[in-house]
Amino acid sequence: MKKAIIALSGGIDSAVAAAIADKEGYELYFLTVNYGQKNIEKELENSKKLAKYFGAKEHKIIDMKWLGELGNSGITDINIHFENVSDDFIYVPYRNTCIISACVAWAEVLGAEVIYTGSEAGPWICPDNSPEYYEAVNNLVSMSTKLNKNVKVVAPLNYSDKEGNIRKGIELGVPFEFTWTCVARADKACGICQPCRDRLQAFEKAGMKDPVPYVDEK
Ligand SMILES: [Zn+2]
Repeated sequence: MKKAIIALSGGIDSAVAAAIADKEGYELYFLTVNYGQKNIEKELENSKKLAKYFGAKEHKIIDMKWLGELGNSGITDINIHFENVSDDFIYVPYRNTCIISACVAWAEVLGAEVIYTGSEAGPWICPDNSPEYYEAVNNLVSMSTKLNKNVKVVAPLNYSDKEGNIRKGIELGVPFEFTWTCVARADKACGICQPCRDRLQAFEKAGMKDPVPYVDEK
């Protein structure tokens, strides 16, 4: 059976990417990275639920806490509060390439055909999300692998926005109650951070009530 690795954060986009890979008939291998993100407990809880839901053959949780220790991101640094800082702080320096590298290493060992990420369309706030980035990554992968030179890194949502991703997820039956987007809290979503605001707006546009709990919900 053909194998796919999914870089799974437990957010909407990677859950939808997993559903797309599942529909394509791949045997699923999930990889979740602990890079010291503040909402890690929720990401782990959700990614495990998603692994069970999709019947993933294997779910690896990889430790990259050193990435968060380098600082400079509101996603990892407890001293940076989203309520007060620029949205630029959602960038985690060089994170995506580190995560994709871990997926490529695993793909070499597994003989996986493809690596799925949930990167969505622009405006690409982070340079490591863009179509040009994926083209460059695939050039690097074909040059730098030895055991599995044909593995490809794909971002099926790279031309879709959050609303489009939710619509796609509805079509594929993604359990959105097992997804988490808030980067500020892990008990209830804050509703204030940029990812929360984007998520709420996208659910509204897609005509679905967001099933996760929010702080100011009555
Ligand atoms: Zn939030």
